[in-house]
Amino acid sequence: MEPRYSDLQACVISPTAPLVIVDVDEVLAQFMRGFGAFVARHGFELRVDRFALFQNIYRPGESQHLDMIAGKALFDDFFRDGADDLDPAHGAADALADLSTRAEVVILTNAPEHGRLARARWLKTHGLDYPLIINSGPKGPPAADLAARTSGPVVFIDDLLPQLESVAERAPQIGRFQMVSDERLRPFAPSAPDRHARIDEWPTLKVAIEERLFP
Ligand SMILES: [Mg+2]
Repeated sequence: MEPRYSDLQACVISPTAPLVIVDVDEVLAQFMRGFGAFVARHGFELRVDRFALFQNIYRPGESQHLDMIAGKALFDDFFRDGADDLDPAHGAADALADLSTRAEVVILTNAPEHGRLARARWLKTHGLDYPLIINSGPKGPPAADLAARTSGPVVFIDDLLPQLESVAERAPQIGRFQMVSDERLRPFAPSAPDRHARIDEWPTLKVAIEERLFP
């Protein structure tokens, strides 16, 4: 599915500005911690023993994870009434605040449409009030669309290898960075550091982004 056309169209990019396109979950927000607390409130447990979303929710004491449909239902519920409880990733807001004095920042998140208001509210609450694009599916097409509007350098930050690959395929000129905010998840996250720089701490990531945007 394509990104919400209106979000992408509404996003105004200065024609020569450096541009930062950034994901939310596990990049700006500590998704697994917040989602884990949410599923715990519903009587389940989230076990971080692989890089997965719905395949690591368990009934306490059981060894077989919850089926995908039940897991997806919890995920949808989380975006309905749990998504305000996320903690921001350490250093993310400061890094973007600094970068935004010299570059444009656009947030490109794959969240369900029913989570839009909560997500926008959360971003504002945590000092991350930048233009928001709610997407579904691969991020290569919307990232390429945004990048085509500026002659300046562009970077893309995400935790998911398939999204980094999608951007590499559709807009190879975009600098790509992988960041995984959850320390428990880091060892399990598939990476290709020769293709996409992997930097899991915002202060270090910010320096690398600056080197790319302002050489
Ligand atoms: Mg993410």
